[in-house]
Amino acid sequence: MFNKILIANRGEIAVRIIRTCRELGIRTAAVYSEADRGALHVRLADEAFCIGPAPARDSYLNIPNIMSTAELLDVDAIHPGYGFLAENPHFAEICQDCRITFIGPPPEAIEKMGNKSAARQMMRRAGIPVIPGSDGPIRDEAQALAVARETGFPLIIKAAAGGGGRGMRVVHTREDLRRHLSAAQQEAEAAFGNGAVYIEKYLEQPRHVEVQILADGRGTTVALGERDCSVQRRHQKLLEESPSPAVSARLRRALVRAAVRAAEVAGYVNAGTVEFLVDSDEHFYFMEMNTRIQVEHPVTEMVTGIDLVKEQIRIAAGERLTLPREPETRGHAIECRVNAEDPARDFAPSAGPITAFVPPGGPGIRVDTHAFAGYTIPPHYDSLVAKVIAWGRDRDEAIARMQRALGEFEVRGIRTTIPFHLAVLDNAFFRRGEVYVNFVQRRIDLSALRS
Ligand code: ADP
Repeated sequence: MFNKILIANRGEIAVRIIRTCRELGIRTAAVYSEADRGALHVRLADEAFCIGPAPARDSYLNIPNIMSTAELLDVDAIHPGYGFLAENPHFAEICQDCRITFIGPPPEAIEKMGNKSAARQMMRRAGIPVIPGSDGPIRDEAQALAVARETGFPLIIKAAAGGGGRGMRVVHTREDLRRHLSAAQQEAEAAFGNGAVYIEKYLEQPRHVEVQILADGRGTTVALGERDCSVQRRHQKLLEESPSPAVSARLRRALVRAAVRAAEVAGYVNAGTVEFLVDSDEHFYFMEMNTRIQVEHPVTEMVTGIDLVKEQIRIAAGERLTLPREPETRGHAIECRVNAEDPARDFAPSAGPITAFVPPGGPGIRVDTHAFAGYTIPPHYDSLVAKVIAWGRDRDEAIARMQRALGEFEVRGIRTTIPFHLAVLDNAFFRRGEVYVNFVQRRIDLSALRS
């Protein structure tokens, strides 16, 4: 097992990782930017080192500074969390070269899944259903129009190197497609340094259902059930739950089989998530694989009782998985992402000082946060302030607990997405489990929210 782990991240996920390290008796080294001097992860870690100015490219993405800190502090391993360097194969490779364990998959697996268009091809060849569309990246307009003839409209143009809900355009006509194709390629080049785009049929009312897997690189790949992440705004997840209210036992078996197969053909090791879209006839399609711990991992932890970060560290240390192939799940869990955004003003960012902060507690409630009263949310990073996770024996109990918890949660000084979540939890369609990726747009009246 490792003696010391450097956490190349910030915010709630850095705090989350430090907590598990402490339970395992592993020392922790935090890194921070000048804007994060007073951050909770800095206070909780055994050691902390400033790695640069506030902008992420100068600090949390600054590979030379992170690696020299890792060497200076003599760490055995680096946990990248999510975002920043977590899915950068180059970084994973540098760690390898420096004989520091990267807590995540091998660089080759990150690379294979990082190109979403290539990943689609690989999955199709492995017999896993993919959304109808182009086979590989689009070369020119003629090829794009040929795909359109075959699959029909609407279509979605996606950046091969895209992520985080960015780099996608929905098109409805041939003119639309012509007009958006080169713009999408230019945008992808500017945003991701790779102009390759591919095309998929745009599914009308799919659900986003993903399967959590763990693979130990010694022949064991375990699936830990699914998460339903259909409550989204502009392709960004806001509320996630496990199990999915729409997945039958038969569909679950098929999803799990496909996810395990996807991980195996990619030579995957460590924790990963295979994302699918599911239509109303229970057809499912591979969308992409995320090669890191996800923001929404706690809902899986709540229903399985398994600490995913602990498993990540054990796998990276070369230990065998000792879990059953399909661990049992118990009850229902929901996560609400509390962001520093004003849902009444089109989710405008609301960084600044938090004057009061009283998180909820009580039966079935877990709060993962780096915030506290007196903390100032810097404007430089993502807007996640806290994740509230509610567990119940069934979905109704989880919803009731979440409503109770969000009602207790006191955050002053900034606007948050709590009123949005309360509106979702109270919505009749949500309560019946009738949730699709366009649910928020169709069913939630954002203009009625008071923050
Ligand atoms: P990212 O990696 O940027 O998160 P994904 O490929 O995971 O992008 O897609 C994010 C979301 O975009 C999905 O959850 C879904 O809401 C929407 N989406 C993506 N592809 C399609 C599609 N073919 N049809 C309908 N919606 C889609």
